[in-house]
Amino acid sequence: NADVALYRAKELGRDNFQFYHPEMNARAMERLVLEARLRGAIDRNEFIVYYQPQVNLDTRQIVGLEALVRWQSPELGLVSPAEFIPLAEETGMIVPIGEWVLRTACQQMRQWQLAGITPVCVAVNLSARQFHLKDVDSVIMETLRETGLCPSLLDIEITESTAIQKPDETRLTLERMKSVGINISMDDFGTGYSSLSYLKRYPLDTLKIDGSFVRDINASDDDPGLVDAIIAMTRSLNIQVLAEGVETEEQGRFLARLGCRVAQGYLFGRPLPAEEIEPLLRRGYV
Ligand code: C2E
Ligand code: MG
Ligand code: MG
Ligand code: MG
Repeated sequence: NADVALYRAKELGRDNFQFYHPEMNARAMERLVLEARLRGAIDRNEFIVYYQPQVNLDTRQIVGLEALVRWQSPELGLVSPAEFIPLAEETGMIVPIGEWVLRTACQQMRQWQLAGITPVCVAVNLSARQFHLKDVDSVIMETLRETGLCPSLLDIEITESTAIQKPDETRLTLERMKSVGINISMDDFGTGYSSLSYLKRYPLDTLKIDGSFVRDINASDDDPGLVDAIIAMTRSLNIQVLAEGVETEEQGRFLARLGCRVAQGYLFGRPLPAEEIEPLLRRGYV
């Protein structure tokens, strides 16, 4: 719709007006609006870190938290990371955003620790662009030093597609992180193209089974699908395993029976802002 497009082009402000072109489609226009709004969103304090519990399937104890960024734009409302992370990645804005998330999560964990709450590990997602920066490990170390958080309380999540870019550099970076005590997780496992040899070569602590495999677990049949194979593989590689996207009791029981100890999903709790996670963290279980 041309009217909407024109209106949105105006929203971008005078300087961006030359970007408007009648043949520009709505999708491209949306992207421009998003990009314009994303710029400066850190300085305007529009990001919030939510935390989702990672729990022991047998005891329901909270063993970790994953930090997940949220963007509350005054003009666009709550924008899902699935929408703005890819754009932030393309434009490079992911680097300052990612560093802000890392700092905020480390600060929050340290604050909870100082308040006497039994510390758990915080998992922070690193995008490909952020991970492949030359000085990524010094940025992380500096953040840990400044916030006073112990490296063993930080868990860095990267995806398979991040890990297969520049495999030799990736291994060295991971080894440097590992050597100071930071934990490494492979996120969304099974959706990318990493090979078994990578899994063996990288110093991984945890493999996170993507939620799509967990959704395949069907209560009515006993077919363990790929989940069984992935869990068996982590056992032989001596890596911990975490199942993502667990939504039903059946899925939880099924995974526990296959030997998976830790899970994350709506069954145990949605991602929540720090002040809402805090009481759960004090109690220690969900
Ligand atoms: P992810 O790292 O795989 O995070 C898990 C996603 O699954 C989260 O979506 C979480 O809210 C959602 N989820 C958790 N439990 C369930 C469940 O039981 N069912 C379903 N259907 N979904 C569940 P979210 O928060 O929207 O984030 C989406 C993706 O955006 C993340 O996937 C991650 O790749 C990226 N992301 C989020 N925060 C950051 C960040 O700070 N930095 C970077 N680089 N990426 C981030
Ligand atoms: Mg993740
Ligand atoms: Mg994931
Ligand atoms: Mg994902």
